[in-house]
Amino acid sequence: MGYEFEADAEYQAELDWVDNFVREKLEPLDFVVKHPYDRSDPIRERLIPPLQAEVRARGLWACHLGPNLGGPGYGQVKLALLNEIIGRAKCGPVVFGCQAPDSGNGEILAHYGTPEQKEKYLKPLLNGEIYSCFSMTEPQGGADPKIFTTTAVRDGDQWVINGEKWFSSHARFASFLIVMAVTDPDNPPYQQQSMFIVPIETPGVQIVRNVGLGGQDKGPNEGTHAYMRYTDVRVPLDHMLGDRGQAFVVAQTRLGGGRIHHCMRAIAHTRKALDMMIERAASRYTQGERLGNKQMVQQMIADSWIDLETFRLLVLRTAWRIDKYNDYKRVRADISAVKAMMPRVLHDVSARALQVHGSLGLSTEMPFMWMIAESFHMGLADGPTEVHKATLARQLLSRATPAPGLFPTGHLPTREAAARERFAEILEDLL
Ligand SMILES: Cc1cc2nc3c(=O)[nH]c(=O)nc-3n(C[C@H](O)[C@H](O)[C@H](O)COP(=O)(O)OP(=O)(O)OC[C@H]3O[C@@H](n4cnc5c(N)ncnc54)[C@H](O)[C@@H]3O)c2cc1C
Repeated sequence: MGYEFEADAEYQAELDWVDNFVREKLEPLDFVVKHPYDRSDPIRERLIPPLQAEVRARGLWACHLGPNLGGPGYGQVKLALLNEIIGRAKCGPVVFGCQAPDSGNGEILAHYGTPEQKEKYLKPLLNGEIYSCFSMTEPQGGADPKIFTTTAVRDGDQWVINGEKWFSSHARFASFLIVMAVTDPDNPPYQQQSMFIVPIETPGVQIVRNVGLGGQDKGPNEGTHAYMRYTDVRVPLDHMLGDRGQAFVVAQTRLGGGRIHHCMRAIAHTRKALDMMIERAASRYTQGERLGNKQMVQQMIADSWIDLETFRLLVLRTAWRIDKYNDYKRVRADISAVKAMMPRVLHDVSARALQVHGSLGLSTEMPFMWMIAESFHMGLADGPTEVHKATLARQLLSRATPAPGLFPTGHLPTREAAARERFAEILEDLL
């Protein structure tokens, strides 16, 4: 019983190389590199760039990108098989040049940036020389972007941005931010906001504090999710990304890919938890027998394998549909489905793994509490699970035809009456 999923022999050789590289060289890094995005950390600067060079030499840098942007353009199915390995190590995405939120921000710049902006921001971003931030959510609410209040007002040949943003991840490591602001309050709700590039050094850009995640980050201001304040921040007119009033459309450019890539990497975390659960069940003895002999422990293992592989197949099928249609709008509901499934699977498998490890599992000496916190991260970032379930349900409902009569089309007496009518002659003959 393995995890294999047929890839062509040439690509499988790459996956095998990546598997070994991640286990041998990247997983140990997570213990010594605090933030893989922090270029001011000398330990990070010594250890990560040589590994990035190895990845480039192997032709595996930025595999989410097509050849027009310097990637191999493998497509999403192959990317899924790669990301489910890379995700084992926290620094994996940075070493392979496919980290969030830069991968999505790169997509925005590639679509909407001017040639100068591509040269100044996109090129170094794709090369892993700089990092970026997506600054959209506000303190008063994230799931409903229609209530954002940050404004951008035109003043001559500049836009002047004022407002606050919340959970702007990696702002402290970023060279620029992509900021969503209201430019046209009188437009219909989905056409009121526009997207802007804001260089981090622009006067008026302030990190109020770096918020940490419960159970993961220690101490105040130690986190990586910035509470931002923009006070009279001036950017030139050409720093608007996409058309005026089109921020929602621009945001969708980054979110489709970003969401499924998180799902691919979540497979790695979940598999890690399952592998640890199985190892513990095979090693630990209680009442004279292995934990793995207890049927309730066996059930936890079996349920976890089924959850993981079901989730993985849905990720792969969604990836396959993205490759097939090359149209994120068409696969939006598929992405919402898999995004909604991810936190539950990661949570449930990590929680069972914790339980099987007993007190050790709950301690800071095992990673399960981190994984459980991560499951909540996955259930909120890029939109809460509830919103994605609603998107999926609405799409399914939009295809439904209301029942023609008083009773549903599956109503058994009605169907039986229709069947009896259809076969009346035969029934009359034979009964
Ligand atoms: C780790 C992490 C990183 C993040 N990084 C970024 C980032 O880089 N940039 C950025 O802009 N934002 C980021 N976010 C913010 C994220 O996008 C928001 O947390 C998310 O959109 C939800 O917004 P909120 O937290 O304000 O929750 P709220 O909008 O207050 O929603 C709270 C809860 O209400 C429920 N709910 C909301 N809407 C509905 C609905 N329609 N139907 C049913 N229930 C609903 C859900 O349970 C939801 O969790 C990040 C979040 C996390 C956790």
